[in-house]
Amino acid sequence: MIVTYPHMGPLTVAMKSVFRRLGQEVIVPPPTSQRTMALATRYSPELVCLPFKVTLGNMIEGLELGADTVAMATSHGNCRLGFYWPVQEIILRDMGFKFKMIPVNYDKPIEFLSRFRQFGGGVGWRAVLPAFVFGIRKLLALEELEVLSMETRPREKSAGLTTRLFRKWHAALDDASDTGSLKHASERMRGAFREARDRARAPLARIRIVGEAYMMAEPNVNFHLQQKLGDMGVEVERSYWLGRSILRAIWMDRKGRHEEEEATRDASPYMRYPDLCTGCHSIGETIQAVRRDFDGVVLIMPFTCMPEVLAQSAMHKVSEDFGIPVLPLPIDEHSDEGGISTRLEAFVDLLVRRKRAGHVPNSLREVSAHA
Ligand code: SF4
Repeated sequence: MIVTYPHMGPLTVAMKSVFRRLGQEVIVPPPTSQRTMALATRYSPELVCLPFKVTLGNMIEGLELGADTVAMATSHGNCRLGFYWPVQEIILRDMGFKFKMIPVNYDKPIEFLSRFRQFGGGVGWRAVLPAFVFGIRKLLALEELEVLSMETRPREKSAGLTTRLFRKWHAALDDASDTGSLKHASERMRGAFREARDRARAPLARIRIVGEAYMMAEPNVNFHLQQKLGDMGVEVERSYWLGRSILRAIWMDRKGRHEEEEATRDASPYMRYPDLCTGCHSIGETIQAVRRDFDGVVLIMPFTCMPEVLAQSAMHKVSEDFGIPVLPLPIDEHSDEGGISTRLEAFVDLLVRRKRAGHVPNSLREVSAHA
């Protein structure tokens, strides 16, 4: 079995470790590029959401390099993700590829692990569980690296230092082949980032990124949004982390579960069925941003994403009620980096001017009155 799978931020590296531990050969597709986008748009239905297209492009490039098995995430949720893999399988077969498609449902922990037994050629739980646990540890370490970078970039001692550290520690975590070396690399990484911060520098503004999970996680599709904002002097936080969402699914992240319930409650005055709609989290997470003293929110979404379009329709009212600026950032295959940068610069400028003029989002007391 030679496995390939689409990119999704740090998950790409974590999945590689899991498959290798299960004894499989892995072909990681080349990073998403203009060629990937061209293949993606050529072979996908025109109006399908962007993650479908990009993940299809990644699969094509992985199969071209010789993979014979494709792993693809799926879900029983209420959006198009559940339909991705069967449609992608048909398209790839029509293109002439011969391969096995293995969908991996991340909402169902037991089903999820059983799929990995399949990747291991039917190996027992004793082989699957340690591989899975190591994969999760690696994913959490890589996500911590992203958090450290977002905290450090607006305070870095010299221009470009965070990006250099990010590359160095990303490679070190990728290379770590057992729990001991992963732990050791993580400790040294924390120390290096602590050293890189100039404590006298304060960020110009604080922005929370909410929206569609894949768009938040994949830097080659979101035009390196976190890095761009950090380079403008902004401290960034993201509402979604895949590692934590997996821990939540296996009841190992009580704090995350509590935050999710809080976001659903906060969204309920704006959405009739907040617990049924993924995009409603973006509403609740924007209200959480007010509680946590963020100056603004960026709502990132693929152009035709159903849940986030719903969220966007209520976002104007949320922004007005809570006095927090929200920048909707719909992205599709025609978006260009220059246009995205200009919109971000204008938004940051607005936040900085509001801050200097003493405008702050409404107080917690006012927030509670709306809940
Ligand atoms: S959340 Fe939106 S973009 Fe993501 S799969 Fe669902 S419909 Fe598509």
